[in-house]
Amino acid sequence: MSEPSLLLDGITHVYVTDRGASLAVDDIHLAVHPGEFVSLVGPSGCGKTTLLSIIAGLIRPTEGTVRVAGKPGGKLSPRVGYMLQQDYLFPWRTIHDNVMLGLELSGKADATRRKWILHLLDELGLLQVRDSYPHQLSGGMRQRVALVRTLATEPDLLLLDEPFSALDYQTRLQLEELILEILRTHRKTALLVTHDISEAVAMSDRVLIMGRNPGRIRHELQIPENIRRASPIEARELPGFHPLFHEIWRELEDPDGKEGAS
Ligand code: ADP
Ligand code: MG
Repeated sequence: MSEPSLLLDGITHVYVTDRGASLAVDDIHLAVHPGEFVSLVGPSGCGKTTLLSIIAGLIRPTEGTVRVAGKPGGKLSPRVGYMLQQDYLFPWRTIHDNVMLGLELSGKADATRRKWILHLLDELGLLQVRDSYPHQLSGGMRQRVALVRTLATEPDLLLLDEPFSALDYQTRLQLEELILEILRTHRKTALLVTHDISEAVAMSDRVLIMGRNPGRIRHELQIPENIRRASPIEARELPGFHPLFHEIWRELEDPDGKEGAS
C-alpha cells in the first residue's frame, strides 16, 4: 500500500490563554489514503478547525506529529491546500489574478501552471468571468474561485473547513456535485469539516465523528460503495442513506454514550 496522504500521530493541542489552559484536541490518530475523501463532523467547539489548522501548519500542536504524503508536515506548504467558509478573495484583483496569487507567491507561475489555471477555470465554469472582480460574482461562484485557487498549486491534500455553509441549499448541492467531480477527476485527497450530516454522508468515503471536551474522534463510519459511487444528489435518494444519517445523528446526540476508540 502507498504512503497515506495524511498521517496524524497522537495530535494533542492545548490553548493557553489568560484564563488558563484548555485541551482542544486530544490524542488524534488518523490516516487518510491517497484519493480518499474523509469528513469530520462534530459539535461546535470540538476542535475541527484546530485540527485542520494544525495540518495546514498554521498552528503547532502541543504534541504529536503530522505527515503529508510520507514527509514531515504541519508546516505551511503548497502540498496542502486549505479552503475556508469565507473565500478571502482580494477585492482589487480580478478572478484570474486572485487564483494566480498562490503560484506567484511561490514563484511557480510558469506557462504550464498558467495553462492549468485556465483549464481549472474552464472546468468550474469560470472562464467567462476571469476578468471580473469578486464583488461581481455570486457566493457560489466565489467559492468556486476559492477552490481553483486552492487547487492551483496542485496540493496533495485538500482541507475544506465548512466551505459550503454560507451558501443557500441549491447552490450548496450544486457545488458538492461539482467539487466532488473535480476532486475525483484529479484524484485529490480531501478532509472536509462540515456540520451538515447529509453532506458528510453524500460526499465521503469515510465519516469521522468527533466529540467535545476534549475533542476526540469517537466513532468512524465507512460509507458503502453504492453511496460513494453515486453523485451527492443521487446518494441522498438511495435506501442506505437514511440509516447512515440517523446513525451519525444518534452519535452526535449522545456524545457520552460510548467512549469511542479511534
Ligand atoms: P470547531 O471548529 O470544532 O468548532 P475549534 O477548533 O474552533 O472547534 O475550537 C476548539 C476549542 O478550542 C473550543 O473550545 C475553542 O473555544 C477553543 N479555541 C479555538 N481557538 C482558540 C484560540 N485561538 N485560543 C484559545 N482557545 C481557542
Ligand atoms: Mg470550526
